Amino acid sequence: MAQRPYIVGNWKMNGSRAMLAEARAIDRAAARHPQVDIALAPPFPLIGLLREAVTGIGVGGQDCHTEAKGAHTGDVSAAMLADIGADFVILGHSERRRDHGESNALVRAKADAALAAGLGVIICVGETLEERDAGRAEDVVASQVDHSLPQGEVALEAVAGGKLAVAYEPVWAIGTGRVADVEDVIAMHAAVRARLHAAYDEAGARPRILYGGSVNAGNAAALLAAPEVGGALVGGASLTADAFLPIVAAAGAGEG
Ligand code: PEP
Repeated sequence: MAQRPYIVGNWKMNGSRAMLAEARAIDRAAARHPQVDIALAPPFPLIGLLREAVTGIGVGGQDCHTEAKGAHTGDVSAAMLADIGADFVILGHSERRRDHGESNALVRAKADAALAAGLGVIICVGETLEERDAGRAEDVVASQVDHSLPQGEVALEAVAGGKLAVAYEPVWAIGTGRVADVEDVIAMHAAVRARLHAAYDEAGARPRILYGGSVNAGNAAALLAAPEVGGALVGGASLTADAFLPIVAAAGAGEG
């Protein structure tokens, strides 16, 4: 089954009210690419403003807490994201796994909370260069998928309803300008799909598997044309409309 491509910009800890102009430009262009699902995930302070600035693209957070509310200074709950108008949340990004020691179990608990709050979820997985060089890339990613995916009845329903995506992001390709070989991406996405089926049976066909890691205007078309690449999670090239829109166009061209 062909899937609508999903192109998601992760602004990380970048952005300002002035940068909402970029989001508006991306939103205006979205009308030209009706066959592509487009979304941006700005830092928390900009989510509500971005929500009000755009109409044709999704808006998401980059993390959430496992609890709905309580004594957790500095944290933000999935319910709060939903309340402010977010559609989804990115969870388990390698920068959070690295900077905040997030484990697979914590990512899973956050995913459960996010789905319960009605948000879509993008679970990030990916191997380090050492793991790839040691020939362990597929094992590492398979284990991350197995242990990070949301579980239970709510999850199964949400997965069947298209609320889950997985982003394969080799850690060594994020922000480095180094992109994974298309053959390696194809192999890894097939491995992720197999783990999704193991977790959710037939519904495992539903989640889109995004590639992330130095995606740009020059390499997007080749990556997005690969089997089982259902879109892209884009960091650096999502910060301006000029850099992001060619990636969206490449996704749209593949659907033409
Ligand atoms: C990311 O932030 O998930 C990412 C893939 O970043 P970049 O595109 O800059 O490598």
